[in-house]
Amino acid sequence: MREIDVKRITEKVRDLCIEANTDLGEDVLRALDEAMEKEESALGIEILKELKENARIAKDEKVPLCQDTGFGVVFIELGQDVHLVGGSLKEAIFEGVRQGYRDGYLRKSICHPFTRVNTGDNTPAILHTEIVPGETIKITVAPKGGGSENMSRVTMLAPSEGVDGIKRFIVQRVKESGSNPCPPTIVGIGIGGTFEQAAFLAKRSLLRPLGSKNSDPELERLESEILTTINKLGIGPQGLGGRTTSLAVHILMMPCHIASLPLAVNIQCHAQRHKEVVI
Ligand code: SF4
Repeated sequence: MREIDVKRITEKVRDLCIEANTDLGEDVLRALDEAMEKEESALGIEILKELKENARIAKDEKVPLCQDTGFGVVFIELGQDVHLVGGSLKEAIFEGVRQGYRDGYLRKSICHPFTRVNTGDNTPAILHTEIVPGETIKITVAPKGGGSENMSRVTMLAPSEGVDGIKRFIVQRVKESGSNPCPPTIVGIGIGGTFEQAAFLAKRSLLRPLGSKNSDPELERLESEILTTINKLGIGPQGLGGRTTSLAVHILMMPCHIASLPLAVNIQCHAQRHKEVVI
């Protein structure tokens, strides 16, 4: 049994909040380069260039990529042979978010749903905790902006709607979202499970590096087909027309109840922020 003091978790979460908000991943930068090669709209190409320049300035000057620095979504993979000491895991993570948003001068965006009064420190965070084999902890911080999250949906399709119904719903969702989620987007899809599990799968699918293949060949084909259809919609970068509406479609799937076909679409803007560390 390995002991880990939760203070280390607070430090790591703090650093990851700042890093994720200021340093866009290499996979996203590569995807923007590839999109520029294919984009036919001159304005679309200009916007893609500006997104890369924005990312460069954010990294060099240690300023946020976007004014919306997001909800602190934290994925924890906790080894079952780890003994946490020094306090509560949840409180340690919340403290890390608090410190990260304070020290990184990141906008605090979390408020009471009715009064809209800001909580003042970007907490609470959203925690997804999984117990896994081993004696390490993997922490992933994935700040999620409100604009793209607002365009996301969960639906319970009739099983008879099948794969065609899934494709129709996803493409329609992207079409109706238009420029709202700051395209080019990454479209995270969760299929199966229950109502809440589909949403979790969709969110989790966004952590997969851009440009990587789905481990399931059937889903890989489906991702490619849906992406091609989406990029024919003409929404384009920032909704101003062009071929680059989405950079990728990522799907995670699991079995579902015989009476159900849960489907979640979690739309992620081009500010695809997530950083991870293993302790
Ligand atoms: S959708 Fe993304 S890029 Fe647009 S404002 Fe929100 S966080 Fe920023």
